[in-house]
Amino acid sequence: MINLNQLTEDSYNSASRRNPNLNYEEQLRQIFLEECELADAYISEPKMSEHCPELMDIEEELADIILACLVFARGENIDIEKALRIKNEFNKTRQ
Ligand SMILES: [Mg+2]
Repeated sequence: MINLNQLTEDSYNSASRRNPNLNYEEQLRQIFLEECELADAYISEPKMSEHCPELMDIEEELADIILACLVFARGENIDIEKALRIKNEFNKTRQ
């Protein structure tokens, strides 16, 4: 099982190492770019990832979106584990 808070820290540290001037605008831009990469992978011929050979392209890009969201959460000091838990419980009550 993944420890979400540790994954958030790891993702933020990796992103900060690649871009020492990482700010919220760059973090939001990265989420958008990863969404575009997922859309491209989805409409393209299915193929294995070049970076992670054990994943399909679509799996890698979906993971990239989630990781980019975690980077934003960490940058904004959002307790994403808490937010996900509360929002998920709320969604269960929706019609
Ligand atoms: Mg990507």
